[in-house]
Amino acid sequence: MSVREQYLEALGVDVWKARTDSRPALAEPGVAMAAAVAAAPAALGAAAVVVAPVVAPPAVAAIAADEVAWEALRAQVSTCTRCELSQTRTQTVFGVGNRRADLMVIGEAPGSDEDRQGEPFVGRAGQLLNSMLRAIGYARPTLYIANVLKCRPPGNREPKPGEVACCLPYLQQQLDMIQPRLLVAVGRVAAQNLLATDTPLARLRGQVHRFGARATPLIVTYHPAYLLRSPTEKRKSWVDLKFIRAELARARAGA
Ligand code: SF4
Repeated sequence: MSVREQYLEALGVDVWKARTDSRPALAEPGVAMAAAVAAAPAALGAAAVVVAPVVAPPAVAAIAADEVAWEALRAQVSTCTRCELSQTRTQTVFGVGNRRADLMVIGEAPGSDEDRQGEPFVGRAGQLLNSMLRAIGYARPTLYIANVLKCRPPGNREPKPGEVACCLPYLQQQLDMIQPRLLVAVGRVAAQNLLATDTPLARLRGQVHRFGARATPLIVTYHPAYLLRSPTEKRKSWVDLKFIRAELARARAGA
């Protein structure tokens, strides 16, 4: 039995068919850069021996520029000292996944496992998140996953408003480059910080909010760590997952 089927069986809910991703996945930065360079050998190597200058095709040049900007942002984050969390982190946690993702999942901040491994949503909570999203047809590599904060708050305390204010521009820049069709805020802290509200999570669920300059649609659901502590809430999370799936389909249809 597949993981999806196990998850659905555990919840006692109906079965969806896996969707296929119509958007092309962008390779990892190094691979994409290599492909871009390989696609324009004349522009790079033959310019000195031909009479007419050879210019890289606009699409290739745009991809290369995008990769340069992305890696510059990653480097900026890796050495960031904008807030006090820089003094206690093991490493920054930039984010992971498909740079052309339709769906972007945003959590609160790195925990101890994430701080150690440098990747968001690892450990048991990460595994449950993977299962939840696979249940509606989204394998982890097809998404982009990040947090509101790039550094772990000591003792997993909640982010301070000043820390969020310092760090949120990085997430906004990632959003500008990825341009997902839908955001999913997992957990109360992520949702309240992204939406600048103190409304309880229960009242934020089940509706489409908007985030950022692009007014990207945003849906709120439970954090998988909360679901591990409160398994009886999994049925509600399944309602959220079906809502996410339907909204994403709607966003794609309207594109
Ligand atoms: S949490 Fe964000 S703003 Fe603070 S040091 Fe880390 S990367 Fe910089």
